[in-house]
Amino acid sequence: MVSTIQNNVFIFKSMESRTMTITKVRQLTLLCLCLLLYACQSDVKSSKGSTIEKDTQGSDYAIVIHGGAGTILKENMTEEREQDYIAKLNEALDAGEAILKEGGDAADAVVAAIHLMEDSPLFNAGKGAVFSNEGKNELDASIMRGYDQNAGAVGGITNVKHPISAARAVLEHSDHVLLTGEGAELFAKDVGLDIVDPSYFYTEGRWNSLQRILEEEKVKKKEIAELSENKHGTVGCVALDKAGNIVAGTSTGGMTNKRYGRFGDVPIIGAGTYADNATCGVSCTGHGEYFIRYAVAYDVSARMKYLGEGLQEAADHVVNTTLVEKKGSGGLIAIDEYGNVAMPFNSAGMYRGYAKSGERVVKIYEN
Ligand code: ASP
Repeated sequence: MVSTIQNNVFIFKSMESRTMTITKVRQLTLLCLCLLLYACQSDVKSSKGSTIEKDTQGSDYAIVIHGGAGTILKENMTEEREQDYIAKLNEALDAGEAILKEGGDAADAVVAAIHLMEDSPLFNAGKGAVFSNEGKNELDASIMRGYDQNAGAVGGITNVKHPISAARAVLEHSDHVLLTGEGAELFAKDVGLDIVDPSYFYTEGRWNSLQRILEEEKVKKKEIAELSENKHGTVGCVALDKAGNIVAGTSTGGMTNKRYGRFGDVPIIGAGTYADNATCGVSCTGHGEYFIRYAVAYDVSARMKYLGEGLQEAADHVVNTTLVEKKGSGGLIAIDEYGNVAMPFNSAGMYRGYAKSGERVVKIYEN
């Protein structure tokens, strides 16, 4: 009997000590987990640290635009033409900045800036769109907002004066993200957008470019990207408004001599355009097929999110390492949540500029 009691006490004690051991192990595990979590957080902070310090002193709004990247060389440009580009880029920045300064919506700023460039024959978007190999203008555009990551895009439209507005209408007035061809045109008409005759998009300069490329092609069968004059002037804009929302938009005629029905990166969300308030907004320009294959716009955001890279580092890597290694030419513009701006390109030039409070830069060539 006594021995049974002693045995039970022993069993009870050993159970108690095992329970205590388990509790201690649990407590220790919890402590380790907390320490690990803390370490990870300070790691993320320190890897982004310099950017954050610099960033928080930044502007409460910012806008960045591009008018296309490509073989843009000073020696091929007249002084007058250069001034025309600079003036139009400034005008587009003025239009967007005026809205942001007043506390307006980033989407309104993006659309206002892009409208100005779509109306100008200088750029390969809207009025200055390039011709397909069938001698037609087929326009693509997209827009994405960073707070809810909703997006709208149109592809291959021929009669909507402002393709960026059609993209915005898809975002705001449909359940879809991408509408193409006649369906997109009917939708644009239904929502009351400006419809024009396709001949509105004819410009002599773009027509002559197509003829020159067709001649070049006869002499030497080259890849579309290698042919001269085929990829200048897509337009894009990214804005951060005072409410902290980032919106990115892009509009293009595509690439001269493209096949009927070809879409580039512009109407593909994640390729030519992307926005996430937690990371950045991006608008791309260049040889679209590469931007689609390497999900370029999304990749900038993903590098920031998963690798903890700052905006400049992420954008530079994608343009000057990923794309260069794959021989994809072009560039992009981007803004992060702090109003930092990046504008990397791997071609000879890129029409580009940005504005923040008290700061304005407009450039064409490398420096
Ligand atoms: N990315 C555009 C496209 O491939 C062209 C450009 O940006 O110039 O359609």
